[in-house]
Amino acid sequence: MKKRIVLYKRLSDTLMARLQQQVDVTWVDTAGPDGLARLRDALPGAQGLLGASLRLDSGLLDLAPQLEVVASVSVGVDNYDIADLTRRGVMLTNTPDVLTETTADTGFALILASARRVVELAGWVRDGQWQANLGPAHFGTDVHGKTLGIIGMGRIGEALARRGAAGFGMRVLYHSPRAKPAVEARYDARHCSLDDLLQQADFVCLTVPLSAATEGLIGARELALMKPEAMLVNIARGRVVDEAALIEALREKRIRGAGLDVFVQEPLPSDSPLLQLDNVVATPHIGSATHDTREAMARCAVDNLLSALAGERPANLVNPTAGR
Ligand code: NAP
Repeated sequence: MKKRIVLYKRLSDTLMARLQQQVDVTWVDTAGPDGLARLRDALPGAQGLLGASLRLDSGLLDLAPQLEVVASVSVGVDNYDIADLTRRGVMLTNTPDVLTETTADTGFALILASARRVVELAGWVRDGQWQANLGPAHFGTDVHGKTLGIIGMGRIGEALARRGAAGFGMRVLYHSPRAKPAVEARYDARHCSLDDLLQQADFVCLTVPLSAATEGLIGARELALMKPEAMLVNIARGRVVDEAALIEALREKRIRGAGLDVFVQEPLPSDSPLLQLDNVVATPHIGSATHDTREAMARCAVDNLLSALAGERPANLVNPTAGR
């Protein structure tokens, strides 16, 4: 008999057909006020779950006592209580690598857009305000040759370092729990303390996972250490930054600007003070959002799910001790 899975993220026809050959699929649309209720109804009897962007709490997991695997269509696993899943013997898989380059592209898009004021000035042109030659009031900041500070030198951090060093001649500083000699050799990068990085970098980029150790990593103290002309780029998770402290620092121009792809509350409320600030570029969590990459992530999640349900060890197993 086929195993039963609950799918709560839309897949391409190709991937859906592949999944349906191997397992019974119950599709649940979790959007809207009744979304969670529909998911609750579908969970009993499920052996696999595949989806993203949903907090799977213990109340939901209790409804699926036969669950063997949760295949997340994301690299970040902050939506899951990994210890709880492991205790229940449920494997958790993610989709690393396939989104690394695209997410680093997003990081660089935010660096360039913030430094060169692309969004603000494009809006200014659209509003018909380009009536004469530009003056210093509209000038931006150079990116090439500046200092790129990367907090979290993992897969995406290294892809950012490569873009900065090779493409823009930037000096690369990084802060990570462990030094990365290979990265240092490749990009002439320097491992340094958080405070040193904050004090020296022109662009401070966050690429850490959200965890108890990184929640609120950048608060008022850290923002105060940044140079007044520096910019903060967050492509990690919103809660890595104390958003109220960031708004304050941006309002008072204690730092020059911020490029933000992630927020404490998503979707970002339309009355967020961040949207009142000219020195903020805000994007709607588009780090990995290209057709190619989202399809590759979904394919990776399907591979992980099918492999786990076949009794194999999936390639991207987050909690290897599950089920032991
Ligand atoms: P990764 O390869 O695991 O890299 C994360 C790095 O962060 C690791 O090198 C780790 O250091 C470092 N780190 C952990 N705790 C730290 C701390 N307290 N201070 C400084 N560095 C710390 O993960 P990745 O694939 O690059 O992805 C990173 C994160 O990006 C994901 O978890 C996700 O939240 C986010 N992301 C966002 C988007 C988006 O749409 N905006 C897309 C993809 C990913 P060690 O190597 O020393 O352990």
